[in-house]
Amino acid sequence: MNQPNLSIVIPLLNEEESLEELFSRIDSVCRTNNLSYEIWFVDDGSTDLSWTIIENLKISHPQIHGIKFSRNYGKSQALHAAFERAKGDVVITMDADLQDFPEEIPELYSMVKNENYDIVSGWKKKRFDNVMTKNLPSKLFNAAASKVSGVSLHDFNCGLKAYKHQVVKSIDVYGDMHRYIPVLAANAGFRRITEKPVQHQARPYGTSKFGTERFVRGFLDLVTLWFVSRFGGRPMHFFGAVGTLMFIVGFLSALWLGISKLIDVSRGIYGNLIAENPWFFIALTMMILGTLLFIGGFLGELIIRTNREHKNYHIEEVI
Ligand code: UDP
Ligand code: MG
Repeated sequence: MNQPNLSIVIPLLNEEESLEELFSRIDSVCRTNNLSYEIWFVDDGSTDLSWTIIENLKISHPQIHGIKFSRNYGKSQALHAAFERAKGDVVITMDADLQDFPEEIPELYSMVKNENYDIVSGWKKKRFDNVMTKNLPSKLFNAAASKVSGVSLHDFNCGLKAYKHQVVKSIDVYGDMHRYIPVLAANAGFRRITEKPVQHQARPYGTSKFGTERFVRGFLDLVTLWFVSRFGGRPMHFFGAVGTLMFIVGFLSALWLGISKLIDVSRGIYGNLIAENPWFFIALTMMILGTLLFIGGFLGELIIRTNREHKNYHIEEVI
């Protein structure tokens, strides 16, 4: 097959009921709009018939590809595996559960292709999920993420997004970072990011694969992201700086203790042990902590130099 205009990336975990309908809707919308496409289904350890359905679809549709993980590694890892292989000028990700509408594809495609956006992120403006467990926490979450990351979006976690080819090749989606791909991209220098309101519907089949723990994880990832985007590439600038500062304060305190002891002795005052002064312990602790932080920063730098790969999933089969 020639270079497709479009790669559609679909991570899935136990979505057997949706796959055929999803494919036929994608196929018909792409045909109507004259888009050549490939699909990457990534089976993230399904235990239902999802993989068999993908294999069967592939028999008569060579534009379909599948990646089968040997177990459930997570949505980020699934996206990572497909991003590595996607060939299209534009890469569109969508969920497999039919909550996202394939009919949005042409518009998203054209925004990246013709309006030259790096990322167009879907925004489920009118959302059909549980208000208390999802919609409200997600509002807070998006507000916090926008503030901390400097990338302002209403809906970071929307599965439906379109990317320029170079974007997915330059970012490294790991851990649970699929929520923050626009932030990863912005950190990698892709700043033309916008959002487009997209249709959304309640899950027609199956249940959500993420529970409320998503918000705890999402928050911790946000802290990581903030920290990593500031200091990830240069841990020494944080740990080294704080460590050195602490060491200096500790050292000066110890020096001051020593000197005042000498002054006392020269005046003939004996008997006050340095260790009776609380500053002695503060000075000691600060010197030790300072040294440890410094070493931490140094080790961080070494790790960065030797380990730039996050690929930690095992692929059983690619078709
Ligand atoms: N998914 C996945 N691996 C996982 C969890 C989810 O590939 O470990 C897929 C899932 O099959 C779906 C998409 O990620 O296609 C979004 O998941 P879900 O619909 O459960 O999330 P929600 O819509 O509730 O945010
Ligand atoms: Mg869903």
